[in-house]
Amino acid sequence: MARVPVALVRCESYDPEVVHTAVERAFDLLGGAESLLPRKGTCLVKPNLLSPSRPELAITTNPEVVKAVVTEVQKVVESVVVGDGPGRGDTLGAAEASGVASACRDAGVSVIPFDEGTEFRLPEGRLCKEFFLALPVVQAAAVVSVAKMKTHGFMGYTGAVKNLFGCIPGTRKAKYHLRYQEKDEFGLMLLDLLAAVRPAVSVLDAVVAMDGDGPSHGRPRPFGAILASADPVAVDSVALRLAGVDPRVVPYLKAAGDYGVGAVDSGDVEVLGDPPESFNIKDFRMPGGDRHRSLLRFGGAVKKSITARPVVNFSKCTGCAVCQRSCPPQVISMSQKKAVIDDSRCIRCYCCHEMCPSGAIDLRMGPVARVLDRFIDSLSGK
Ligand code: SF4
Ligand code: SF4
Repeated sequence: MARVPVALVRCESYDPEVVHTAVERAFDLLGGAESLLPRKGTCLVKPNLLSPSRPELAITTNPEVVKAVVTEVQKVVESVVVGDGPGRGDTLGAAEASGVASACRDAGVSVIPFDEGTEFRLPEGRLCKEFFLALPVVQAAAVVSVAKMKTHGFMGYTGAVKNLFGCIPGTRKAKYHLRYQEKDEFGLMLLDLLAAVRPAVSVLDAVVAMDGDGPSHGRPRPFGAILASADPVAVDSVALRLAGVDPRVVPYLKAAGDYGVGAVDSGDVEVLGDPPESFNIKDFRMPGGDRHRSLLRFGGAVKKSITARPVVNFSKCTGCAVCQRSCPPQVISMSQKKAVIDDSRCIRCYCCHEMCPSGAIDLRMGPVARVLDRFIDSLSGK
């Protein structure tokens, strides 16, 4: 089987010229935009606009990367729009705060909201046979994903594949968290979503990634890379190997490997451009606190004892109630202008942690999880 090409290009700053050169080179390594995209119709460029956040926080795709990708797409496609469905706030607000709206004005393209959606049937779906997708996603002649490389409390990592979850409009995302509460189920759902959206190209902004307590409160982590491929699974797998992380610890990449979706293993990928060994990425911190859930499938109290628990830090909580609105099973209430979580009904999806604008929700491991952590580390010789 032919190996899947992944462009890996060193890019160590968000200087517009540096980013433009790196993104152009990434597309050239893949044969140019003309070999990847249709000429007719509208191309949707889909960045990660998770929330209204400043670009230096590394929560959203950097505006210079979005602009450079739009420029490449404009070389061949007659019409280009940029859109996403944020988890918090609205598309235009997130685009303004992140600098993406300004970048789009410079490039002469519109930012469009993902407010309206439609049912999309996927009979071949392994787990999910129908999605509610944003209309611009369904109507696009091609989707170009421009993701941000980050850690993620629930999935461990978010990049090219997980970026597609934003194709589900706003509050509709909660339904998928409620329906697919286990990590492996949610990961398999993301693979079905990938089959529904089928991005033509996936670009990953890993110039400055986020590690640690991602996807909203982690450490901006200089990583120095732009990656691109027609296969988002291959993009994520290469990025994680650069970080020294086995891609199969991420549920949707494990599922991709198990089901033969995309290229997960290094032998199935051909890295073009800068050699992976020239990227000296050390101490990339994955999120803590939830390593056992994919290993042990228990319910109830056992599951609760081996997974991290969301805990409100009252000194940081401003009482904004964003977490209450974001909680899929609605188990957060407000008391004396502070968030209160009913742990007995919490499904451990960590949407509250992801959406809290103040970083006031910690993910805390209990004693059983900590002992298990040490046991796993001892098995792996750490
Ligand atoms: S925990 Fe965060 S999101 Fe929830 S009310 Fe407090 S500040 Fe707002
Ligand atoms: S409290 Fe947080 S982790 Fe628990 S179900 Fe609600 S959003 Fe998910």
